[in-house]
This record gives sequence, C-alpha cells and structure tokens, in this order.
Amino acid sequence: MREKGLFRRIKNIERISGKYIYEGEKRYLDFSSSNYLGYRDSEWMKKTLVDAVKRYGVGSGASRLVVGTADIYGELEELLACKKKQERALLFNSGYDANIGIISTLYGKGDVIYCDKLNHASIYDGIKMSGAHMVRYLHNDMEDLEKRIVKTREKYERALIVVDSVFSMEGDKAPLRKLVELKERYDIELMVDEAHGGGVLGRDGMGASEEAGVLERIDINMGTFSKAYGSQGAYVASSEDIIDYLINRCRSLIYTTSLPPAVIACNLEAVKRAQGDREARERLAALSDYLRDELKKIGMGTLDSETNIIPIVVGDNERTLWMSEKLRDEGIMIPAIRKPTVTTPRLRASLSANHSTEDVDRLIECLKRLKSL
Ligand SMILES: *Cc1c(COP(=O)(O)O)cnc(C)c1O
Repeated sequence: MREKGLFRRIKNIERISGKYIYEGEKRYLDFSSSNYLGYRDSEWMKKTLVDAVKRYGVGSGASRLVVGTADIYGELEELLACKKKQERALLFNSGYDANIGIISTLYGKGDVIYCDKLNHASIYDGIKMSGAHMVRYLHNDMEDLEKRIVKTREKYERALIVVDSVFSMEGDKAPLRKLVELKERYDIELMVDEAHGGGVLGRDGMGASEEAGVLERIDINMGTFSKAYGSQGAYVASSEDIIDYLINRCRSLIYTTSLPPAVIACNLEAVKRAQGDREARERLAALSDYLRDELKKIGMGTLDSETNIIPIVVGDNERTLWMSEKLRDEGIMIPAIRKPTVTTPRLRASLSANHSTEDVDRLIECLKRLKSL
C-alpha cells in the first residue's frame, strides 16, 4: 500500500468544537463532519449525558439479552416505532452493526438482494455475509432496476431492495416513491438506510421516507444516531415478527455489550429535539440551496446534490487533492474524495445548522481564488 501511495493513517486532531476543528494553534472551518444539526456538543446534549451517567453509571454491563436494559432503551424504541409508523423498533450499537446484522439475519442462500451501486459499505458487507445473490443496479436508475428484477426475481425465493435514503458522497436522494411501487409490484421487501436523512429531512425529521410520505410502506426502516443526531448508535423499525426474529437470531445484536445507557439517553433527547427543530431543517436546506447557487455562478458543478451534502467538482484526482490542501491552508476543512472511492473526483462538503451565510461566502471566495490558479 505504501509503495502504491495508498497507505492511510488516522490524523490527529485536537478537538472539534461547534463548526471548528482545532489543531494546535490552528483553527479550521469544518465542512467535513456529519453533525448536521449541531447537536454533537450542544449544552443540552452534554447535560443529558452527564445527568444520565450520574443515574446509570457508564457501561451497560452486558448484552441486552443477558442483563436486560434500562427503561430508556424501550422508551426510545417505542418513540421510533411510532414516528416511523411501524409496529416495533430495535436499537443497535452502530449503523455498521445494524446493516450487517439485519441483512445477514433476514436473508440467505436462495434469496436475491437488489443493491444500488452507491450504497454504503456496511450494506455491501451485510449482503456478502448473508450469502444471498446480489444484483447491483445503476445508481438511482429505476429502469435498470426493473429490467434486472424482471430478469431475476422468479429464480429466487425472497427478495430485497436496499438503498441509502440520502447517498453519502452524492447528496442526492433515492426515488423512494418509485421504489415502493416496484417492490409492491414484484413482491419484494424494501429496506431504507436513513443515516443521512434522519433529523435533516421530513416534517418531524424522520428522514427522506417521511418526506416522500412512504414510511408505512417500507418494510425495514433503518437509521443511525451518529450523523445529524450527534451521538452514536442505530435502530431498525419494522414489523413485530421481524423485530422478534432479530432479537432471537441477529448476531451483531446478541453477541455484543449494548451502548451505555447515557448514550441512549442522548439519542432519545436528540430524536425528541429534532422533531421540533423545523427551523434548523429549513435553515439548513436554504443554506444548501445558497451554496449550490453560488457554486454554479463560479462554474463549479455539484452533481445531483439536493441535500446538505454537496459534492463540489473541481477537476481530476490531483486537482481535487490540491484544492483540498489549499483550502486547508486557508483554514477550511473539506475532504477530497477520489477514485476509486467515487468515479467523479470531488470535494465533499457537508453543511450543518451551525454554518452561517458568511461561512459559505468565505468558502466561495476561496474556491473562486483557487480556481484561477
Ligand atoms: C455512516 C453510515 C452508516 C454507518 O453508521 P455508523 O453508526 O457510523 O456505524 C451506515 N449507513 C450509512 C448510509 C452511513 O452513512
């Protein structure tokens, strides 16, 4: 890896605080985090954690199947089931654990899984572990998906379509209404990963599925607390039978110590807050539109972005990396995402409710100056 220039290391940062990243004397405006609502280090979040630690201690003790869990786990699960319009919900320790566990427990040999090419790595890993036959289709291309369904559906027992609701490197949304139509027409189940939609989209922050009005038509509604909710962990909302089956069979739930109760308390508080935080969602959407418009004015493309995740296309791998480094010199942190991770190299900017119009203007100024170099 070193010889090929592909060796990666984890960089040391001192701390992230609000919209800034601190490294020694230096301060960077952060367009790289997924703290979309600014909850991560808010005063109420920190207080929720501290109060819960005083009440519950730190570690949870063991797997939930061994020791059981504090009341707040159930409270959070009930809230999510209700808001997601599903019968039940179940918490996981991370989005990664949820995706590998859910997919590999519910599907197996003899089943088929239709997977958008740009789905998150944890979905791919879940499919691999399941042993089901994977059919990848072109990103958000419903014609391509239907063609593949028609060709393969009959050969398999059960079938699943699985998508990110908001794609993490593109910032576009899955066509959920069309996906629901297809899955109903061809007797397929639908799983939606709301990692980047949760908190940010929908009237109550329940994600792209709420926004599209299809919550109750999705079979497996998964999401995380690690992005907009500013915490850690994940959940799935689904039918009574599926949740019971997961509790009995899902290895990434059964064979791991559950998250600390204090983290669950933070997740509960964050989900409740996000419901009422419509103003922040609207402000974030307006700021995202503003950044896209300004980028367009200086001749920089944003692919099909329609959320607060905004890819900025500035050229080939080298140019993109150069731009990211130059922005860093200017005190702005935006990661360069390059081939082979994506086919079109880009800077991946994520906006949060912490950002102001002035922050976006500063970014645009820098990009404009660098563009002419
Ligand atoms: C971040 C992410 C995950 C993983 O969630 P973690 O809680 O960080 O493990 C899963 N799916 C998608 C789409 C994600 O963006």
